[in-house]
Amino acid sequence: MKLNNIKDKLNINHKNKHRVIAVGYAVAVAFAFILSLTNNNDVNASISPNERFDYLMLENAISTGMADTSSVYPQSSVENIKSLFEMVNYKEKEKTVENEIVVSKGDTFINILTNLGLEYNAANNIYLELKKVYDPRNLRVGQKLQITTIMDTREDKLISLESIVIPGKAGERFILSKDENSKYTAQAEKDELLQEVNSASGSIEGTLSKSMNRQGVPNKIVANFINIFAYSIDFRRDVRKGDKFEIIYENHLTPDGQLVKTGNILYASLTLRKDKLSLYRFKDKNGNIDYYNEKGLAMKKTLHRKPLAFQNARISSPFGRRRHPIFKDIRVHWGVDYAAPQGTAIYAGGDGVVQVAKYNGAYGNYVKIRHNSEYSTAYGHMKGFAKGIRPGVRVKQGQIIGYVGSTGRSTGPHLHYEVVKNGTRVNPLTIKASAGENLNGTNLANFKKQVAAIKESHKNMFAQAKKAKLASK
Ligand SMILES: [Zn+2]
Repeated sequence: MKLNNIKDKLNINHKNKHRVIAVGYAVAVAFAFILSLTNNNDVNASISPNERFDYLMLENAISTGMADTSSVYPQSSVENIKSLFEMVNYKEKEKTVENEIVVSKGDTFINILTNLGLEYNAANNIYLELKKVYDPRNLRVGQKLQITTIMDTREDKLISLESIVIPGKAGERFILSKDENSKYTAQAEKDELLQEVNSASGSIEGTLSKSMNRQGVPNKIVANFINIFAYSIDFRRDVRKGDKFEIIYENHLTPDGQLVKTGNILYASLTLRKDKLSLYRFKDKNGNIDYYNEKGLAMKKTLHRKPLAFQNARISSPFGRRRHPIFKDIRVHWGVDYAAPQGTAIYAGGDGVVQVAKYNGAYGNYVKIRHNSEYSTAYGHMKGFAKGIRPGVRVKQGQIIGYVGSTGRSTGPHLHYEVVKNGTRVNPLTIKASAGENLNGTNLANFKKQVAAIKESHKNMFAQAKKAKLASK
């Protein structure tokens, strides 16, 4: 009981209870002996106030009859007692320390280790082992390393380096650790990613990107959203303040919620004034992935409205009646003119077969593509044709067919673009019908199930959109 009392007052770690009791006892015994041999004042003069407190504790122990003076060592001295007291004041000699080291300018992996107290050779061996999974030369300023060491706390000296953890990309880390045979091994560790389905909706104020960012949509998803609609919408011309967007997309996260990469857009919708255009991602039986409207119409196959590599091209002359730039009288303009730098790539507006590719009077260098029984497109004033473009050749939507020029009756480099529907030229900016494959049969049935599931899982968003629509009527 008394011994426990001393232990508690000396504030000794419970782990070392037995050792402390034994040492404490020996000290008490030795002390009692010394007291009988030496002048008590000498002892007091050479010890610190803290130590003096400890002596007093022991004195108390002796006076209450705990100490036995019969078996002490005659050669004991004040010095011996002091070293015994050091042990009573026992601090854990070895201590595990978790260091967080921030890489700063000029640091190398090896000098970080030698600064911790490792010998150069030992540091170099660790470097070589780590290099099997991670090149330590890739350390960047500001990167945080978790290094576990065992330290001699009394001398503040490194006893051993136990492990190093280097963070990689989100959800990834490289770990070097010491095994029971004191051998270091390095390994890469990756968290299993969680997939999260998010939704966002809002009004467009300022740019579409900023409006979507405000709702937490990452930039990469915004860019994909724009790509999905690029086939059917001219963002520069068609999107206005107050228009609305809706989106359902996937994120891949680490278990602690860090975004590692963005996933697919499952649903994308734009409401431009009163027109709502909604697209759903779908993988068909053959594994082809595309976006379809609610009826299963392939939107990607809708003819391009601006089949140019330069998406910022402005309309220099719209479809319809206008004053002719050369004849200066009112004539119908049967296409849309896009002003673009000479040499800008011109794309096939949709999948199809080249019907005409030749110099064609006022049109200059001219290409006509037949897409299906309903639609054809034509391209005029080209500088030249792309390699391999000649009648009978099959082309894919987005494939380069030629380059912007000013051949034929033209006042400057531009693309004259025509869309022909059942033999009549129509405004390329107002066509809505698909020129490609729509879903049918099992694909269509599966697609409809998928659409229903998305609507069910995001009931709230769809309900809100419906309400907003009613309110605006
Ligand atoms: Zn024109």
